[in-house]
Amino acid sequence: REGPESIGDLQALAGRTVGVLGYGNQGAAQAANLRDSGVTPVVGNRVDEYATAADEAGFAPRPIAEVARAADVLLLLVPDEVQPDLVRDEIAPGLRAGDTLVLASGYNWHFGLLEVPDGVDVVMVAPRMIGAAVRDRYVSRVGFPCLVSVERDATGHAWDTTTAIARGIGGALGGAVVSSAREEAALDLFSEQAVWPLVLGMLRTAHAVLTEAGFSEEAVLSELYLSGEPSEVFDHIARDGLFGQLGLHSRTSQYGQLRALAAADVTATYERFSSVLHDDILSGAFAREWSRPEAGEQLDELRREAETSTLARAEAEVRSRLQH
Ligand code: NDP
Repeated sequence: REGPESIGDLQALAGRTVGVLGYGNQGAAQAANLRDSGVTPVVGNRVDEYATAADEAGFAPRPIAEVARAADVLLLLVPDEVQPDLVRDEIAPGLRAGDTLVLASGYNWHFGLLEVPDGVDVVMVAPRMIGAAVRDRYVSRVGFPCLVSVERDATGHAWDTTTAIARGIGGALGGAVVSSAREEAALDLFSEQAVWPLVLGMLRTAHAVLTEAGFSEEAVLSELYLSGEPSEVFDHIARDGLFGQLGLHSRTSQYGQLRALAAADVTATYERFSSVLHDDILSGAFAREWSRPEAGEQLDELRREAETSTLARAEAEVRSRLQH
């Protein structure tokens, strides 16, 4: 981990045109930050409302293929699932040896889904922050962490380009973490497929146990999450640490939490997490499954099931009652 603003020299971008491909969550924020850092990028986007937003922000957007031909350093900021086709059809034909392709996530590269011509550097500058906050935190000089890596160093200067882009988008302000596409992709998928399903599943189970015991939907859901208290706690966890924040809770609460944590049997969770990491993620099994043409429809079906579940219906009812 490098200290705030200790890495990156924007000189590495001198004489090179930077292109931002996609003007969505990350694209709009990173383009604005680069401009304020003195590296005004050329923005590429299809002609639609994102392009209008880019136009209103003074970026004069051009077609993606045109920017791919014109720019030397290209930030790929379109959704992960459209990147393989877009790179093959519109971006790769415009790339020349010596250019740099900058990824904001490691997934497609690590799992071999991007075909990038030889001679082109491939690097990663992955903000650990949603796009809106990438902009807000740059403006307020708070910063945000970024995972950075060089995946292919064809020119011998890829690291300098990586750190310059990290600095230009404000990613050096919060500290840059030297990483890899493999690590970034694995950690992201692990949070999504191991940690969060358990959190969601625990809340769903807690709701079932408590309502079956006769407690009211309003009280149960307010206690569990509708009050917003968990997000306050997570905010303090980020600032004060997992256990540092315990002092904010009553001593009764602290005793109850720590006593139960010490007694918890996590063997099954440990085994489940290891299996998700090794068998699903690192083996590439999940990436292969998600690349199937029918996977999108399966996601839609899973969402429909979740949105019509007992918990979702109870939530909607409680919300409407609490608002009146
Ligand atoms: P968005 O969903 O916000 O991207 C939307 C942009 O992509 C728009 O400009 C949109 O233009 C364009 N786009 C969508 N589909 C196509 C297509 N088929 N062809 C051409 N352009 C298309 O993406 P994000 O900003 O969320 O993500 C960009 C990258 O950043 C990803 O690699 C993601 O993993 C990474 N990232 C995202 C984070 C986040 O918090 N969102 C955090 C860290 C990394 P159009 O209107 O034409 O569709």
